[in-house]
Amino acid sequence: MVILVVRIGGNERMVENSLPKRLREYRDLSDGELTQLIEGNEYEDELMEEADAVRRLHYGTDVYIRGLIELTNYCKNDCYYCGIRKGNGQLTRYRLSMEDVLACCATGYELGFRTFVLQGGEDLYFTDERICEVVAAIRSRHPDCAITLSLGEKSYEGYLAFYEAGATRYLLRHETANPEHYGKLHPSTMDGGNRQRCLWDIKKIGYQVGSGFMVGSPYQTTACLLEDVRFLQELNPDMIGIGPYLSHKDTPFAHHANGDLHKCLRLVSILRLLFPHALIPATTALGTIDERGRERGLLAGANVVMPNLSPTNVRSLYSLYDNKIHTMEEAAESRRALERRAASIGYRVVTHVGHVKRD
Ligand code: SF4
Repeated sequence: MVILVVRIGGNERMVENSLPKRLREYRDLSDGELTQLIEGNEYEDELMEEADAVRRLHYGTDVYIRGLIELTNYCKNDCYYCGIRKGNGQLTRYRLSMEDVLACCATGYELGFRTFVLQGGEDLYFTDERICEVVAAIRSRHPDCAITLSLGEKSYEGYLAFYEAGATRYLLRHETANPEHYGKLHPSTMDGGNRQRCLWDIKKIGYQVGSGFMVGSPYQTTACLLEDVRFLQELNPDMIGIGPYLSHKDTPFAHHANGDLHKCLRLVSILRLLFPHALIPATTALGTIDERGRERGLLAGANVVMPNLSPTNVRSLYSLYDNKIHTMEEAAESRRALERRAASIGYRVVTHVGHVKRD
């Protein structure tokens, strides 16, 4: 092991020449060093060992489960990578009714879920008022549960109304912090700056805030990923969701290659070391690109899984990308399968509400 003398915060310090260990200790590295970790697999094993050690330090072997309810596959937007974009005329559209949502929550509650995640496209039917009605109905039936929303860009007043109705967490991936890259993934009517404004609003209101990005999206460079990491450092979110880009056959990006599993896992580990307390899901996209992708995500530092509680007849219609896994599995079956998978690598699915732990 080589020992280096480096200048950190104006002071000279002796450090081991191991980027993963330095990242763990200082929770930061230079752009050049982070680039090495993102691009190369030289440090991959050590990076994942350090990340796993840090998640165990803060969260032990606990894996939090969140019940995902896919509220609607209508969307007013046309993101070039997304299978439920409004321009996809091949897709059968659906919306869940209030009764559907409450039935999903009741099933989930029986199975031990204490967080419900309402996710959907930006569906004009779901006005702020309707969203508040759904949130309030869940809140009144399940006062001991966290309600997470992932319903896209709204006004400050909208976010505030959802919060006052009982929502506690909001997920909104910033997608890419680089404006030029954002412009290549979205039509000119969409604005990455507004998305970031939403995240700051969400944080200001008092939600636990989640952000994230795709790894390997078309036209993404390592410099873009670095900007994503730097943006997250500024935002300091409670939850960070990343997954490999996966193509969808009915989008303008149908012929772009999928993201790289290993690069995505390296980024999960980097984010764990940068944000030791963050709630980081082993995403469905990871499980789709690799049969054991979610286990690998957990081993790389993730500590959350989000099984699907949506009615089985609509799950295949919520097709953000092709070949999404477990579209027909019942909630109970899906939960048992996840328990087995987590146990197979030494982790334990737990059922409590699973808030972020801070220092
Ligand atoms: S990524 Fe989100 S906002 Fe964009 S089209 Fe898909 S659901 Fe709509």
